Amino acid sequence: MSSTVLVINSGSSSIKYQLVDPASGESLASGLVERIGESEGHVKHRAGSETTELHDPVPDHANGMRTVLGLFEKVGPVLADANIVAVGHRVVQGGEYYDGPVLVDDEVVGVIDRLSPVAPLHNPPNLTGIRVARELLPDVPHVAVFDTAFFRNLPAPAATYALNREVAERYKVRRYGAHGTSHQYVSARAAELVGGDSANLRQIVLHLGNGASASAVVGAHAVDTSMGLTPLEGLVMGTRTGDIDPAVVFHLARNAGMSIDEIDDLLNKRSGMKGLTGHNDLRQVHRLAESGDEAATLAVEVYAHRLRKYIGAYAAVMGGLDVLSFTAGVGENDTIVRARAVAGLEFLGVEIDEARNEARSKEARFISPDGARVAVLVVPTNEELAIARQAVSLL
Ligand code: AMP
Repeated sequence: MSSTVLVINSGSSSIKYQLVDPASGESLASGLVERIGESEGHVKHRAGSETTELHDPVPDHANGMRTVLGLFEKVGPVLADANIVAVGHRVVQGGEYYDGPVLVDDEVVGVIDRLSPVAPLHNPPNLTGIRVARELLPDVPHVAVFDTAFFRNLPAPAATYALNREVAERYKVRRYGAHGTSHQYVSARAAELVGGDSANLRQIVLHLGNGASASAVVGAHAVDTSMGLTPLEGLVMGTRTGDIDPAVVFHLARNAGMSIDEIDDLLNKRSGMKGLTGHNDLRQVHRLAESGDEAATLAVEVYAHRLRKYIGAYAAVMGGLDVLSFTAGVGENDTIVRARAVAGLEFLGVEIDEARNEARSKEARFISPDGARVAVLVVPTNEELAIARQAVSLL
């Protein structure tokens, strides 16, 4: 029977998981544990066409993982029969240490822990997931797949901030990027779709989900990306500002009497589309805009303006552009955002076919007209499959 990988993405109050066949790409089961530590928890387990939901409290991650393993036992697929060859863990920050997947041992656990100051919202819960899963599944190799790995070897001019060098070196301040697993998967898939020699193919990937990032990729290598020391920099996101003058922080601290933690919360959780309109979900923002809400109309323009800026910048960084791909929740579904993002970019050879842009599909597809200078694509991302394949590639 074919082998499988259990992929785990452990967040601060949630655990997402999927049992994947890395060879066929088939998802055999998937699920989500939410509201860990709250008075009522929520567990959703999908296996084939069957969905099981629980609403008991989930006091901690260990408890959540035990519940998940119990569901595999009760509802299936039975893990003992699933030929699991690895557990793949999504880890956000691998710092300067990892440019690819790594087998988890105590030393790797130590490194992920030490990197927590540059990923305070992500690395600690990622690590909790690893600790719990290693305890409960001790006989399978555990592999960490880092969101930063694809960007570890960015050219120095793209990775370096013009910050005092001593300070930057001492505190490890540089561009690390994020969403790397998705950018790598989508750019590889796009190269396949476009066909031909991809060694010098110049691509821009726009990963537009609740978090959003852009990358410039030449051949199989990332040459720039919009997220920085943390996932706050770059594009306008669901709740994050993206690029902003750092002096806004001093201004608010000095004149609004806000603490650093309050400003952190403001920029990360109360800004972006949510800060501009009250909603982080683009579908709601579009509904408001359609009803004549001026703030929502402006917010969509701000979002698209930032995208156009990055497309132009990255085309300049690469000396041209061959492929532009949209992915993640907004990128895969939002026809308005896609159309606005490329409006006026005909001078770069970027144009889309309206009917193709409007057609709904779950498949990777071209939305540029035949014969266009730049292939514009929608490529559904699949981070779980990418993690599963990277885990297996290591074994
Ligand atoms: P992700 O982080 O990739 O799961 O993306 C989540 C975001 O995708 C949501 O917050 C929505 O803004 C957006 N989204 C999902 N489905 C649609 C859709 N059909 N149209 C527009 N935006 C969507």
